[in-house]
Amino acid sequence: MAYDQDNIFAKILRGEMPCHKIYEDTNTFAFLDIMPRADGHTLIIPKSPSRNLLDASDGDLATTIAVVKTIGRAAMTAFDAPGLLVQQFNEAEAGQIVFHLHFHILPRHDGVPLRPPGQMGDNDVLVIHAEKIRAALAMS
Ligand code: AMP
Repeated sequence: MAYDQDNIFAKILRGEMPCHKIYEDTNTFAFLDIMPRADGHTLIIPKSPSRNLLDASDGDLATTIAVVKTIGRAAMTAFDAPGLLVQQFNEAEAGQIVFHLHFHILPRHDGVPLRPPGQMGDNDVLVIHAEKIRAALAMS
């Protein structure tokens, strides 16, 4: 299926939608998930258009997964988390909702379940959480 230039993440990349930005470089962008299933739940996306893993270039995958590792480590530090869950869905049948390639990173703690999907995060809390991850990133 074709890439839709008006998907939500394309709008965020164009600055047409707000986000809690964590990181940006030439090829990659990272921001908080607006419905966080764990504190520090962050999305990492390539800037170039692809629906998901299946149509992304190998180059985009390589650069994006390196950023997944860097931001993942920073999020673990920021939330003192011993574990990190990385999730990535391909097409609706596999649970994909937004059709611009993205990797979820979720810091995990023993005995703390993921929150149910679809619950909006508190904006003031998201502001604080984004700052915590950016600060950990700056120290790394
Ligand atoms: P999926 O395509 O299944 O990986 O899910 C898309 C993810 O994007 C969900 O976790 C949503 O909470 C998240 N999401 C949807 N809209 C926004 C937005 N405007 N800003 C940040 N995250 C979003």
